[in-house]
Amino acid sequence: MTAKAIDLFEFCRNKQHLSGDVPVSDLARLTAELADNKGELAWSLQGGQHETGSAQLTLQLEGEVHLICQRCLTAYPLAVASKSLLVLAKTEAEADETEARLDDDSIDVIVPSGSQDLMVLVEDEALLALPLSPRHESCPAGAAPGTVNDKAESPFAVLKKLK
Ligand SMILES: [Zn+2]
Repeated sequence: MTAKAIDLFEFCRNKQHLSGDVPVSDLARLTAELADNKGELAWSLQGGQHETGSAQLTLQLEGEVHLICQRCLTAYPLAVASKSLLVLAKTEAEADETEARLDDDSIDVIVPSGSQDLMVLVEDEALLALPLSPRHESCPAGAAPGTVNDKAESPFAVLKKLK
């Protein structure tokens, strides 16, 4: 394992920067959601300070993963490109208070452990970047049993066709 574990508060205080690549196959919780464990994700982490004074992290992810389309059940590539802002809190109580104070759904407040495994953050971010219901924008022609019974179509329309 080459997992990096660091003190995130210090990382932010010193406005440090770290980046690297992680093989998708290293991220077990992520691969459980994917069609395969191929590819890798490029990540970068920038420490800093939020305007409210809290420590903040900017986490960026880029790469490609393979998902199973829920409509035609074949694998398809998804380009991952996400950037998110994490604000740090020392305790759960402080996290709740910070969340209320920031009042911004785009910011995640986290309570890092004293020596935080960065790959856990990267994996959490990757999981959030996955669509809830993975699908091709348009399924490849003839690929699928599922395309005939697209759920978007009303049952009445289907009945009409049967007549
Ligand atoms: Zn599909």
